[in-house]
Amino acid sequence: MTERAAADLVADEVAPGVYVATAQMYTTTTTIIAGADGGCLLIDPAVSVDELAALARWLRARGLRPVAGWSTHPHWDHLLWSRELGDAIRYATPRATEVAARELPGLIEGVRSSSPGHDLRVFAQLEPLRTAEIDWRGPRAVCLAHDAHAPGHGAVFLPETGVLIAGDMCSDIEIPLPDLDAPDPCGGYRAGLDLLASIPGVAVVVPGHGTVGDRAEFRRRVAADFAYLDAVEAGADIADPRLTVDWLRAEHARLTALLAEPADSPPPAAQPGEP
Ligand SMILES: [Zn+2]
Repeated sequence: MTERAAADLVADEVAPGVYVATAQMYTTTTTIIAGADGGCLLIDPAVSVDELAALARWLRARGLRPVAGWSTHPHWDHLLWSRELGDAIRYATPRATEVAARELPGLIEGVRSSSPGHDLRVFAQLEPLRTAEIDWRGPRAVCLAHDAHAPGHGAVFLPETGVLIAGDMCSDIEIPLPDLDAPDPCGGYRAGLDLLASIPGVAVVVPGHGTVGDRAEFRRRVAADFAYLDAVEAGADIADPRLTVDWLRAEHARLTALLAEPADSPPPAAQPGEP
């Protein structure tokens, strides 16, 4: 036992059997989906060592154990795991799996610099999902792959409850963050956003960072994200209320600079540790 009292996890039930916990760092969400016989699907467990420990305690207290995991995209804050969460198979899209393996040293550096202390032997241990749905004994979980924010980004939609676990999209606190290494960052982002917007029956949206929204809020965020892309591509002034934090202003400046450059210039360097 440590002297320090371990904080308990707080998770909201956003739909029957679907729980969302929110970490302090970057307002990162973790989604827990209850399945058959105490099994659960765990999406993007995050972020600190203490928060993952609290998550494992929360699951144990409710008789839940992860039987499958999902990483929405190959950024370090979405690839975390701990021994206490067990040895469930952890899926991502095939492309995300490849990118995570290829970029592992940089991803590990992100963990070390931003959220140190994790057991790196269980970090980013992914299996490529080669089917359209996650194979597990629980509510249907449909994968929607695109390359908007990161290569091989995979949102998960639960048709029975209308919950969309969007990964790093559809946030109320973050502007769209296109993959600046992609050949057409804004075009790729629009394609991903179109895909999410085309899903029928979204009743709840869970962004990777930010707060959970209802059906109307999902539509509002999609419209706000398209409006941001329209403005940035037109070189217009942006009056987006999410552009209030320094690191998001910096990301916005990087995108603006990239769009102003000739097509064959390399993208400006990212800051280490950014989500
Ligand atoms: Zn990300």
